[in-house]
Amino acid sequence: MSWISETDDLENRDRLNKDLLPLTNKLMFQVLGNPRGNYSQDCQAVTNLAIRKLIVTEDVGPFRVTGLAPAVDGLRRVFGDIQNELPDIYKALGNAGMLCCRFVRGSNSAISNHSWGCAIDLTLEGKLDFRGDRKAQAGLKAIHPIFNRHEFYWGAAFGTEDAMHFEVSRQLLTKWHDDGVLGGSGLIKDVVDTIDFGDRGPEVGWLQERLNIVMGADLTQDGVFGAGTRAAVIAFQNKHQLKPDGIVGATTREAIKTAQVV
Ligand SMILES: [Zn+2]
Repeated sequence: MSWISETDDLENRDRLNKDLLPLTNKLMFQVLGNPRGNYSQDCQAVTNLAIRKLIVTEDVGPFRVTGLAPAVDGLRRVFGDIQNELPDIYKALGNAGMLCCRFVRGSNSAISNHSWGCAIDLTLEGKLDFRGDRKAQAGLKAIHPIFNRHEFYWGAAFGTEDAMHFEVSRQLLTKWHDDGVLGGSGLIKDVVDTIDFGDRGPEVGWLQERLNIVMGADLTQDGVFGAGTRAAVIAFQNKHQLKPDGIVGATTREAIKTAQVV
């Protein structure tokens, strides 16, 4: 079989990563700070010196990468397991980029997690997976449980499917923070299960997609929690007899996840 042939539509995309959660800009700002002062769609350098100190360039098995030191260590373990368990796919793997300060593709305000060197894009046989078609190259689907095992999140579950993309999960980053690996300290406030006004990132894209499906909200799925998204959340909460505070906490999240289209 060919590892680059695309699967059928991925089912239950929001369950692909089980309980692992993607990174949010809010968490990254709290834990690591802003990598640089301005962003565009082009790759630019990290200018934040505290973050630069944590960036390394190292061999992780199939290729060299430049990224956040603990993420690079984690990838080395991931690729070690892929080499042992799925050697044919291992040989086909290529690096389409790790550290790169830019906006999420298609957004002019959500910052990509590549900006902190916490995400990597992969090719198979030199080919990129087609983004946004809700399918994945077979080889990416086959290796994603190994990434999950090492607490990396697969971008196939993003609002806009991005199967070439794997990133550090929120749980793993939080662990590094708690262990002092990232240099900072202090409690992370209220980020594990809340999506709120001003948040940016793939999780907001997921929220917008769900609100569009279950509420017909007609939101632009740009991954930015603005006034329109807040209004749709409040409308959803009113409809489902939840406290209409416009904040997506654990209860509202579960209700949005499981709501049926009427
Ligand atoms: Zn990516």
